[in-house]
Amino acid sequence: MQQQLEKILLQVQKPARYTGGEWNSVQKDWDNTEVRMAFAFPDTYEVGMSYLGLQIIYNLVNSREDALLERTFAPWLDMEELMRSHGLPLFTLESHRPVRDFDIVGFTLQYEMTFTNILNMLDLAGLPLLSAQRDETMPLIIAGGPCAFNPEPMADFIDAFTIGEGEEVLHELIDVYKKARAEKLNRSQLLLKLAAVEGVYVPALYTVDYYEDGQLKSVTPKHPGVPKQVRKRLLKDVDNAPFPSRPIVPSIGVVHDRVMLEVQRGCTRGCRFCQAGVLYRPVREKSPETLKKQAADMLKSTGHNEISLTSLSTADYSQVQPLITALLDTHSEKGVNVSLPSLRVDAFSIDLAKEVQRVRKSTLTFAPEAGTQRLRDVINKGVTEEDLISAVTAAFGAGWHSIKLYFMLGLPTETYQDLDGIANLAKAVVEAGVSQGVNRGRLKVTVSVSSFVPKSHTAFQWEPQNTLEELKNKQLYLKEKLKGKNIVYNYHHPETSFLEAALAKGDRRLGAVLLRAHRLGCKFDGWSECFKYDLWLKAFEDLGLNAAWYAYRRYNYDDVLPWDHIDAGVSKKYLAREHKRAVAGKVTVDCRGGKCPGCGLCPSLDIKPVILKGGDGHAPL
Ligand code: SF4
Repeated sequence: MQQQLEKILLQVQKPARYTGGEWNSVQKDWDNTEVRMAFAFPDTYEVGMSYLGLQIIYNLVNSREDALLERTFAPWLDMEELMRSHGLPLFTLESHRPVRDFDIVGFTLQYEMTFTNILNMLDLAGLPLLSAQRDETMPLIIAGGPCAFNPEPMADFIDAFTIGEGEEVLHELIDVYKKARAEKLNRSQLLLKLAAVEGVYVPALYTVDYYEDGQLKSVTPKHPGVPKQVRKRLLKDVDNAPFPSRPIVPSIGVVHDRVMLEVQRGCTRGCRFCQAGVLYRPVREKSPETLKKQAADMLKSTGHNEISLTSLSTADYSQVQPLITALLDTHSEKGVNVSLPSLRVDAFSIDLAKEVQRVRKSTLTFAPEAGTQRLRDVINKGVTEEDLISAVTAAFGAGWHSIKLYFMLGLPTETYQDLDGIANLAKAVVEAGVSQGVNRGRLKVTVSVSSFVPKSHTAFQWEPQNTLEELKNKQLYLKEKLKGKNIVYNYHHPETSFLEAALAKGDRRLGAVLLRAHRLGCKFDGWSECFKYDLWLKAFEDLGLNAAWYAYRRYNYDDVLPWDHIDAGVSKKYLAREHKRAVAGKVTVDCRGGKCPGCGLCPSLDIKPVILKGGDGHAPL
């Protein structure tokens, strides 16, 4: 394998994607380790290495004496072609061993448009794609991550899904696997044992029934002891959770090449379109002492010169200001910068931005999401136009000349007046720059617009997506409205969002469509240069299914949803209430301020938000 690999590596772009051997990567003794796992990321090395979850799981498994974890990524098209023509199977970076030699292979499901890459990787590994066709000699295929909260489209291919935070469930899963092997259980017996672990969903152990009109009737366990609903696992003590103090340093430029310091898990804001906001509830802050130590350890072990404070809403972290000051005071002399991925729209954020940009200034990003106050209330985005304008005015005044604004098209109840609102807001931001004396030649406002995709476990899970035609018309309308100097308008392929919606809202029948799409050659569907919309449509057609039926259907509150057997902790009753409040334009309070709007998660999972002192000082605007 090694020799063949060396030969083909000379012929591909970026060979370092496949060589391994990076700083801090771990190579364990294969023969003397009981459980051998591969972490499979269904996208390129550059995307996968920017994902904090990979570093966390890598550290978690490799810190066990009895287990090892190696990495594998989706090979880019050139590499795949050469691997196939030379008969080289999918291999891991650490030991260059075939993935099929491992005991457990774990995929992360971050984005629906990577699903065909998973099938392609299984195929390249020389494994049957359908879990029903795999036997005892083959690895157990598991998957976790946000898309596991509607696992059904991938249910035919995955042996077991982990629902919720990996740190909490992985150790148990490895222990059950070890015990089952010691007891010489067969694959079906192992799956039954796994299904008994809280937070593990084994799709083969459920029967799915439909009504004649195609609507889902039920998803029911086939055996006693298999739970009707699989409840998510959550880390209660995030502060003391294992953390990768020696993260792997990528050997080539990756999307995020810096120390990722996770300041908290979860978000309290309750934006009604946001799935992550539900999946990672409740908020759990880490202490500044822990964070300062972790930052120092990671800087020392990696040589990076940037710390990114990551979380769903970092500016909400109650200790953000003192933490940034402390980090900069300790490390800025060595040229270390601190960055925040995106900012809240208020003056407090600008103070923060000034602080973090002590070393380097970059573009500031804000996400008002919608153009009018009416629609921002519908989505529960607690931000006003005045907030945005005063924030950008302060930013321009402080020396920035480039601002990025994120919006979503096709949100429930959206009208063309809301689109006018986006254009007016963008123009007002330009004017704010002019009023602060920013040179017109340098002044730049980038308006990035994505299409709304209804996601499971959110208040908008019952909503249809706008049709392709509606989305295209809206994009063109905005393009016209946003014409002018100083404004750059970016938008996404609506076709990709359409398929994302079909998969996000889909049921188990979509497994056959995925298989067909894979056979037709679909891969790297999230990459515009690889996306083949016509092949996707053909895949649906060949199976007699309609993507529009999935993406555009409006569910009733009492319909059985394809993900109802997955319990994210937040009650369906609460989501329905939130949906009604959305339509009525009523906002719901953030639970950070101590007022609990009753999503049901804390009592049902016996947990409480962890907010350090001063946490209610930055209540929603
Ligand atoms: S139960 Fe209340 S406090 Fe807990 S996450 Fe839900 S809204 Fe927040």
